[in-house]
Amino acid sequence: MSRLDHFINRMVSQRACLDHAIALTATMEGPVFELGLGNGRTYHHMVEKMPQRAVYVFERAVASHPKSTPPDDMLILGDVHDTLVQALERFGPTATLIHADLGGHNPEKNDAFARAISPLVEPLLAAGGLMVASDRMYFDKLTEQELPADAVANSCFIYG
Ligand code: SAM
Repeated sequence: MSRLDHFINRMVSQRACLDHAIALTATMEGPVFELGLGNGRTYHHMVEKMPQRAVYVFERAVASHPKSTPPDDMLILGDVHDTLVQALERFGPTATLIHADLGGHNPEKNDAFARAISPLVEPLLAAGGLMVASDRMYFDKLTEQELPADAVANSCFIYG
């Protein structure tokens, strides 16, 4: 598979999994967390699809497109190893949807990172909430959910 094929699979799957999780959690009340702003494409998609839901963004250094930059009060600035711990004190287990796209180009580093943050993410999710991740996560209780038909296996993961 070419790098282009891989990239397209990842993007198509990311949108499919996000749309699926947004629909399944639509009636829930509670914050939504975007972990990793980057250019802000997925953040922009989430805000467009969920105008009525509060989307908080966790990012260590904002470098997003101006149209995809969250307002200051929705930005949780810092390293997620610290800010996810602080978020549990602030929000408790109330997140209805958590999306994580924190990785770079090195699969081994991404896997190690996912292992490190999994125990910080798991307690934030509300009962019935869903987590969408670009990398496989390592949870104690949350389990992998079936992907929507238009997502490509191993390009995106859903937990609940
Ligand atoms: N989904 C985004 C989009 O659609 O544009 C792309 C996200 S980009 C792949 C990953 C982002 O995660 C980068 O902006 C990076 O700064 C952020 N990030 C990586 N490690 C982080 C950490 N330890 N704490 C906070 N942010 C981090």
